[in-house]
Amino acid sequence: MKNQPSVLAIMAHPDDAELKCFGTLCKYADSGYKCILLIACSGENGISLIDREKFNINRIPKNVRFNETERAFSGTGISIKFLELEDGSAKFGRDLIVAIEKEIRKISPEIIITHYVDYIGADHQDHSEVGKSVINCVTRLSFIKKVMLCEPLMTLRANLFLIVLLI
Ligand SMILES: [Zn+2]
Repeated sequence: MKNQPSVLAIMAHPDDAELKCFGTLCKYADSGYKCILLIACSGENGISLIDREKFNINRIPKNVRFNETERAFSGTGISIKFLELEDGSAKFGRDLIVAIEKEIRKISPEIIITHYVDYIGADHQDHSEVGKSVINCVTRLSFIKKVMLCEPLMTLRANLFLIVLLI
């Protein structure tokens, strides 16, 4: 469809969009938007400590994570692209900004969905690095009309008090 409005979600890991914005993307897709998911890292470190010991492995082959994500989004009409960075290697800077901006410019979305940038460091570092890089890009790209930031993953220990002082 020509002039079809589009939404681009840019997430750090293969399971992030399912956890943070799957419903939102599906609603946009159902409303006639072209929806694309760009995933920066490959998810190869996404394995529990229990499974590491049980199966004696430290990493999951990246094609396993890619296939899981494609299965999760099958039937939604949402397409998926992978930058294939190593887990934990996303760094705010020229390389990541250029790679993300190149993909944004190819798609020219009106709406961007990405990670909220967690400056206190409770969220996964890849999430914040990707979020910062995306925000850096959108400040220059006038075709983007709306940026939606997903809620950060705050998995703090149950008995830890974290107090943010605002001035
Ligand atoms: Zn993640």
